[in-house]
Amino acid sequence: MYCRDCGEKLALRFLENEGLVPYCPKCEKFKFPFFPVAVSMAVTNRAEEKILLAKHTGDDDFKLFAGYIKKGESAEKTIPRELKEETGLPAVKWRYIGSRFHDAKNILMLAFLVTTEESAITPGEEIAEARWCTPAEAREIIRKNSTAEYFLNLAIAEMGRKK
Ligand SMILES: [Zn+2]
Repeated sequence: MYCRDCGEKLALRFLENEGLVPYCPKCEKFKFPFFPVAVSMAVTNRAEEKILLAKHTGDDDFKLFAGYIKKGESAEKTIPRELKEETGLPAVKWRYIGSRFHDAKNILMLAFLVTTEESAITPGEEIAEARWCTPAEAREIIRKNSTAEYFLNLAIAEMGRKK
């Protein structure tokens, strides 16, 4: 790990209430890590009985929809933008269901249960197939031991729980 400002090698130094934090001996400053943030979307119909899963081009299994939050953008802007890009469907409303740090990609994922109209899908370029599933079917075809599976289970627990 190197300093993003001066290129010096970073050391870990103890900081009260934070634990070990990367420290640059040249800048004499703590350098908290930067990482991107993305939204994960469990897309459901108004009755909250079905989930829309996506198979991406070149992938074998199904995932939830997801997209990076652009710099300067709020998560509330990302959700309708990404859903429109990937499916052509409108995001009618959404609620937060949980988060997880995805180590392999160094991303913080924020997960939402997103309600849409159950109408014809216009798949975006990255989507090979989108399929409406019952919760049982979704559990069957989602990639196992994935962050998507973790969020799918949170979404299924949340579905039908009217606010
Ligand atoms: Zn530095």
